[in-house]
Amino acid sequence: MDAIVNKRKLVDARDLPQPRTLPVADRPSREQALEAVRTLIAWTGDNPDREGLLDTPRRVVDAYGEWFDGYDADPEKELSRVFEDVQGYDDVVMLRDIEVESHCEHHMAPFLGKAYVAYVPTNKVVGISKLARVVEIFSRRLQTQETLTQQIANTITEHLKPAGVAILIDAEHQCMTTRGVHHRHVSTLTTQFTGVFKTDQALQDRFLSFCNRK
Ligand SMILES: [Zn+2]
Repeated sequence: MDAIVNKRKLVDARDLPQPRTLPVADRPSREQALEAVRTLIAWTGDNPDREGLLDTPRRVVDAYGEWFDGYDADPEKELSRVFEDVQGYDDVVMLRDIEVESHCEHHMAPFLGKAYVAYVPTNKVVGISKLARVVEIFSRRLQTQETLTQQIANTITEHLKPAGVAILIDAEHQCMTTRGVHHRHVSTLTTQFTGVFKTDQALQDRFLSFCNRK
């Protein structure tokens, strides 16, 4: 009986650790990162000292710096500049086809796709490019697609206090297409709705039709 209670408690979302960023002082040095790549190369069976691979650790570490530069950016800051003169506009603001280039936290393998972001403003709006920037910053961190979808929705909800937010992400996971089950062209769809997008089915349907998914 206790075991069942404990098991339930383990999957309670409120008990999950929150996403966090390591302080710069606690991160390994670049030298240590280069050494780690050399170790992985040797572990595969190749010789990290052969000519073609000598410069590979540097390239890999530089690429990681780019793929994961979301840890040094602040998505909340992107939404801090708002325009309050919306002149009565109270309908959907939507961005379609935002490129998503991210990495899953289970395999550190890329997942690539598109994000669709919509909100219904109450009394303030943000520059449209800022919404795409929020997607980009969270994408350049390790998480699951589910978490990514939720992080984007939560950040917009908290900082713009809109009437509602709708997010859809459609992505292909290379950990699924190039390894394991090797299922090609399977895309994963995740959605997150808040406020009026959750309560108003017609509005939710409109969002999905704008995404061309319904
Ligand atoms: Zn994965």
